[in-house]
Amino acid sequence: MNKQIHAYKRDIDTTNRDGAFLCPQCGAKISPDDHSELVYSIVDISVNSFGLEELVICCNRCSCIIHLSGFSKINELSVMHHPAETEPETDDVPYFVHT
Ligand SMILES: [Zn+2]
Repeated sequence: MNKQIHAYKRDIDTTNRDGAFLCPQCGAKISPDDHSELVYSIVDISVNSFGLEELVICCNRCSCIIHLSGFSKINELSVMHHPAETEPETDDVPYFVHT
């Protein structure tokens, strides 16, 4: 069984402000606010000392793999926009924590 899986790389910096983007292959809308995992599933998370480094998600509609990177820029932005807020200590992916 040789199932061909396409992989794409995206920089989160090029996506919309809410983090939603379209699957590069089938056009399904992938939104961080969608936690149903009907559209996509998180398959791998890479973190470094600065936080989230790369997120690997799988589009459930066309089964392609999308590598999301550039989260450090987002983290810096959110700190600037919410200086008084502190990050809650959870196991959630930092980027997906919205108020
Ligand atoms: Zn897709």
